[in-house]
Amino acid sequence: MKIAVLPGDGIGTEIVAQAVRVLNALELPLEMETALVGGAAYEAHGHPLPESTLKLAQQADAVLFGAVGDWKYDKLDRPLRPEQAILGLRKNLGLFANFRPAICYEQLVDASSLKPELISGLDILIIRELTGDIYFGQPRGRRTATDGHFPGSEEAFDTMRYSRPEIERIAHVAFQAARKRSKRVTSVDKANVLETFQFWKDVVTEVGKEYPDVALDHMYVDNAAMQLVKEPKRFDVVVTGNMFGDILSDEASMLTGSIGMLPSASLNSKGQGLYEPSHGSAPDIAGKGIANPLATILSAAMMLRFSLNHEADAQRIEAAVQAVLAQGLRTADIYSAGTTRVSTLEMGDAVIKALK
Ligand code: NAD
Repeated sequence: MKIAVLPGDGIGTEIVAQAVRVLNALELPLEMETALVGGAAYEAHGHPLPESTLKLAQQADAVLFGAVGDWKYDKLDRPLRPEQAILGLRKNLGLFANFRPAICYEQLVDASSLKPELISGLDILIIRELTGDIYFGQPRGRRTATDGHFPGSEEAFDTMRYSRPEIERIAHVAFQAARKRSKRVTSVDKANVLETFQFWKDVVTEVGKEYPDVALDHMYVDNAAMQLVKEPKRFDVVVTGNMFGDILSDEASMLTGSIGMLPSASLNSKGQGLYEPSHGSAPDIAGKGIANPLATILSAAMMLRFSLNHEADAQRIEAAVQAVLAQGLRTADIYSAGTTRVSTLEMGDAVIKALK
């Protein structure tokens, strides 16, 4: 089992180091190779996603990714910015299905901005289509300035599109995921206004007939945004397009209170995947040894589950994380009175100890 390890920038290197230690502690036959990506790769090779890094990722069964970006690169031309590395990996590996679980750990119920009774026991999975929609439609406008702005223009527009095969494959992913959970899928659209999403709704409904054991309902995106904060536990699996998924998955992830806890997976049709925390490179705390490594460690668990077929080891990691939280150990972002504050490294140590 070959894993491309791409730590990236900022806290990326610190948190990925802990996830790698946890994976090593499982004593599985994992072959891990590290490469530069993002700003670090730009500094060394003049490009955020060098050919050698892309090749390593393509040849691996899975990619363990940290985070990329730093404010010092904000003035670079867009194709050279660190964030382009993640877009390039998604495109080149064909990663079309983005999984973002939002789980509320009992010990962290108070970290949410919602009332405990609304989120206690929360376990939802947002599945976002990642390679189509308005983000990949044709942008139109008169771009007259080199810095990407539109001085003097009267309009600009982007086109929203989805093809039947694109909708079918993400719908299958959602129904299959729901079969392993509480067998409910909510498809989120804007069919009342957008042709693309009436088509989306029709195709998801057709695919749903192949899964009679899974209950399907449809919800407009504006209502879904509201229901996520009003009654989040009504959802199980939520499937939606690229743009709505971008927004709703961030909303759902924050229900649980801390961005340092949230893993994600992006998969292609071969089961190859890229696994990363939902947060960024946090330049404000980089190098201080205080970042929360749990989102990355939980991403490694998702990697074992979805790409490497090691469900039992995935569960071992998740149980170890629960155990560490139950012991009251907290990095700064989830610290509250009465708990014990630990560093990034100490959190890694504690998870490894709990695993054993
Ligand atoms: P961010 O997620 O990096 O940080 C937001 C806030 O959350 C910061 O205060 C940070 O300290 C905190 N935080 C994030 N992760 C944490 C962790 N593990 N432990 C403790 N605290 C944590 O978002 P940002 O500040 O908007 O962006 C910083 C850089 O990251 C930008 O260059 C941005 O483009 C990039 N970014 C990259 C990715 C990615 O690599 N996939 C995703 C989002 C943002």
